[in-house]
Order: sequence, then structure tokens, then C-alpha cells
Amino acid sequence: MSSIRARLTTTYAAALFGTMAVFAVVLYGARRASVYRDLQDNATRRADLALQIIAQAKETGDPLTVVRDPLIGPTVTPRLKTLLEGIPDFVLVLDSYGRTLYNSFAVRQLSDNDQLKLSQEAIDLVTGEPAQLIELSSDRLLVVSRPEPDRGTGVARVVAGVSATNAFLNPGELVATMLVISPIILVLSIFGAYVIAGRALRPVDRMVDEVAAIRDGRSLHRRLPVTDTTDELARLAATLNEMIERLETSFGALRRFTADASHELKTPLAVLRADVERAMGGTGTSNEHLAALEEALQETARMADLVESLLTLARADEGRFDLHREPVEMEPLVREVYETAVILGEHAGLTVTLPVIEEATVQGDRTRLRQLFLNLITNAIKYTGRGGRVELSLSRRLDSVTFSVRDTGIGIAAADLPFVFERFWRADRARSRASERGGFGLGLAISQYIAQAHGGSLTAISRLGRGSTFTVSLPLPVGEEAGEGEPAAPVEAHGAASTGDGPD
Ligand code: ADP
Repeated sequence: MSSIRARLTTTYAAALFGTMAVFAVVLYGARRASVYRDLQDNATRRADLALQIIAQAKETGDPLTVVRDPLIGPTVTPRLKTLLEGIPDFVLVLDSYGRTLYNSFAVRQLSDNDQLKLSQEAIDLVTGEPAQLIELSSDRLLVVSRPEPDRGTGVARVVAGVSATNAFLNPGELVATMLVISPIILVLSIFGAYVIAGRALRPVDRMVDEVAAIRDGRSLHRRLPVTDTTDELARLAATLNEMIERLETSFGALRRFTADASHELKTPLAVLRADVERAMGGTGTSNEHLAALEEALQETARMADLVESLLTLARADEGRFDLHREPVEMEPLVREVYETAVILGEHAGLTVTLPVIEEATVQGDRTRLRQLFLNLITNAIKYTGRGGRVELSLSRRLDSVTFSVRDTGIGIAAADLPFVFERFWRADRARSRASERGGFGLGLAISQYIAQAHGGSLTAISRLGRGSTFTVSLPLPVGEEAGEGEPAAPVEAHGAASTGDGPD
């Protein structure tokens, strides 16, 4: 079955049909039982009426039976017979020998065989038993037997019966009726189910059309209509909308990323071209040619850096950012980057300190962690003016180790802070590009990725004009937690005191 609509239709039609069949059988059973009860009551009433008439006749003191013909045996008196004739349906009055004293008009209308059969059955009927069905050739009777309490009258029992032929629908008739009606019910139920299923699935069809209309990144702004109900389809539409929104965000980011990357590559390429043209030009001194080639070399190095960063991020996006995990002792690593920081700081006229350093070993990639720490350090030095301070620290917490870089530099505006980890984001593009060490705005994105790939995090707090603190938190391997490591001696650069009054 190809569509849900067709499946729903057949299932619904089958269920309806089955229910109808069960309903018919139950109804048949219930009706049969109630008709049986009614017939039994009727027959009992006839018998009781006959007994009443006999009782009244007895009160007159006259005999109730006469023997007109010894061959036939006793019969009820003509007077009593006249009275009994008023009772409709089948009534037989029997004496204690089982002889029939009276046959009602309906009995007398039966064929001889049926009459014989009925009187035979009447003799066999046990008084007090529930009613019994007797099949005659012309009719089907439901009969009851009631005793005459006073035996002295010669009357022993009254047997009364009512016709049950029309009252009962036999199972064959039921099946025949079902066979006639069922195709109609089936057609109606299939039609009904088809219409209902179609109506229920119409929103799904609409949804399919809407989703099909979203063909490329440009149509991702479209959203599916969401009804204000809480049914499954409304939830599906809401969920799909959320997914489309996420896709739209990713597509947007991808577009921006490509545009930014091309833009970043365009400028160094233009400079490179101008330099090469300048160097190749016949005019100019060899010194000028050398200067042009040197600039070209710098731009080439810048581009190589950019391409390297882009490659790293592309690998990270693809999940191909392999970490060579090994136990990394943090203390020697931080001392190593600190030494580099001191040299860089000296060039920039800054004081670099390492007031807190504690021992800890993490599971990680030493080269990547070094890259991460140096990124933060070079940023701190880049964005801190001469005479400023940069403070590194490595401290061990309960289940993590934190490395932080705090500077007294230019800081980041509160409005900009949420974007610092975004790719190609720079607080001031023009200045960054113009400055000799201007970056591409990819360093922090890569740094954050490295921290996260280690199961850790990179966070920033900053105040414009007061400085920034970037903190890397890395989890300690299981079993390494709790403060086993002893703090190592604080290290100071240029004899500067670690006052700790950085950004707040
Ligand atoms: P860039 O290569 O431009 O430094 P990053 O991703 O490392 O790229 O940094 C993004 C931006 O965040 C920088 O351009 C700068 O505006 C801001 N930033 C980063 N670190 C600091 C810092 N220590 N102090 C002030 N601003 C910073």
C-alpha cells in the first residue's frame, strides 16, 4: 500500500466492517434472548389465564369434564370450552394421564400430524421447566406447561404455546441479510475513511509542498505555517521550522565565512601583485626591489597563516581535527610559553608575570595546547599598550585545571564580547589590518575549538579600557582529580609584582 491515506482507508474500513459484524452478532443474540423472554411471558400468561378460568368454573361446583365418546375419552364441558375459547393461541388442557381434555382453536387448525406431535410433546413437557421450542411442519411454537394445583378437578396441566416463527430471525437469515448489506456498508466505510483520511492528511500534503519549495540556501527564510493547536502536525511544523532556522543560520555563517575568507585573501594578493610588479619593473634601485620582495614575502607569510587557519577550521568543521592525546604535564608547558611571552613582552615593552603555577597533568595534544596558550598570550600582548602588564596563571581546581591570561590592555566593549569567538570577528577591522601584527580574527575561534576538543572551555571577561582575562579550563583525567599537586614557586618577569589588579 503506497500512501498513508490508502493504508488508513483500508484499516479504517476493515475496523468498521469488523465492528459492524460483531455488533450484528451481539444484537442478534440480545434480541433473540429478549424475544424469547417475551414469548415465554406470553405463553405463561395464556396458561395462567386458562388455569384461572378452570378455577372459576370449579367454584360453580359443576364437573369440569364429560365423557361423550368413550373412544375419545374425557373432554372439558361445553361451557368450560366456550370460556377457554376466548384465549388466543395454542392452549391444551391435559388430565393426569396425559389425555388432552381441550385443544384451542389454533391447535385445531393444525394438521393432524402437527396436532399429534404437539400433544405428544405436551405430554413430555416437564412442568416447571423453562419454555421449550417445538418444531411443527407449519409453525414453530414456544410452549410452557403450568400445573393445576387442585388435582380433584380431573385437570392436571395446562400447556400454552405461542408462535415463534416470525419472532426469531434464524442465523441463516442473518447471514443473508449481512451479505446483502455488507457491500453497501463496506463501500460507505471505504468512502468515509478515504474522505476522513484525506482531510486529516491535507496539512501534511501542504507541509510537503512547503518543504519542497525550500530548494536552496536562498529560500531558507521561508517557514511552515504553524497552527495554534498542540497536535502532532503542529509540533512537526514547529520542529521543522526550528530545523530550517538552524540551517538558515549555518548557511548564513557559511556564506559570511566564504565572503570573509575571500576578502581577507584579496588584499594580500593585491599587495603581492603590486610588489612583484614593482620588483619586476625595470626602474628603481636594487634596494627598492629588495624592499618590494620583502613586503611580498611578508604578505605571502600572512596568506600562508590565513590558509593554515582556514584549513584548521575546515578540518574542525568536518570533524577531522585529530588530537594526538597523551598525558601532558602542564607546568613545564606553561613555563615554556611563559618564556616566549617574556621575550614577546620585552619587545612590546610589557611586563609579563606568572604568579601562580601548579602542577597538573591533562590528557591532550601538547602542540595544540601550546598553540592555544600562545594565541591568548600574543593577543594579550597585541592589545596591551607599552608599559602594560600581562599576567599568566596555571591553577588546579577540584576536577579541572585552568590557565588564564590577564592583561591591562584596551579591553573589549561589553556589546562586542559575545562575538569575540566568532570567525573573522575583530573589534576594529581597519586598525587590526593596518597594524603590523593585525590578525584575521580567526585565532580565538581556533583557540575555542582546541579547548572544546579537549572537553574544556575558553571564556573571556573584559572591560573596555581596563583589560581582559581569557581563561582556558581543561578537565583533569579521572583519578587525577582532587588537589594532589603542590603549587610550584611563583615566577615573575622583570621583577614585576603580581598585584592581580587586572580587569574586573
Ligand atoms: P586576531 O587575529 O584579530 O587577534 P582573534 O580571534 O585572536 O583574532 O581575536 C579576535 C578579536 O578579539 C581581535 O581582533 C580583538 O579585537 C579582540 N581581542 C582578542 N583578544 C583580545 C585582548 N586580549 N584584548 C582586547 N581585545 C582582544
